[in-house]
Amino acid sequence: MTGPVPVVIHSDARQTITKAAGHAAPLEAGGLLLGWWDSGRVIVHAAVEVVDPAASGTSWIRRENLAQQALDRAMAALEHPWMGYVGDWHSHPAPCGASVQDLKSIRMASRAYPQPLLLIVHRSDGVLDIRAARRGRSQIVLEVTA
Ligand SMILES: [Zn+2]
Repeated sequence: MTGPVPVVIHSDARQTITKAAGHAAPLEAGGLLLGWWDSGRVIVHAAVEVVDPAASGTSWIRRENLAQQALDRAMAALEHPWMGYVGDWHSHPAPCGASVQDLKSIRMASRAYPQPLLLIVHRSDGVLDIRAARRGRSQIVLEVTA
């Protein structure tokens, strides 16, 4: 299937990302996107922060142990039967969106999933740069409301 990937981002997820980005600035913050896939759409229901103790102003790395713990906690708390990992988010303390390296990472990660994986980059001007990749290839994103 080709064509844009419709993405729904709930306000809870948006708020979590914006708040965490604000707290972390001038360092990067990041974490996981939780939601589900529904007839071709990616629904981002929630975002969780995963602290990178070594985060800098230009780097946030997903620490796998901490990410798994955050995922387990969030899944237990959210108690939604469809809820799962649908991608990552991180902040840039500058008004720039996803970097070449960011896009490469999401393309690589997407090879392990049959459905599109998302990357949301929160820019310092508040804009969310929403990207998707599916089976190793970048996809065009169409943000839609639920
Ligand atoms: Zn980045």
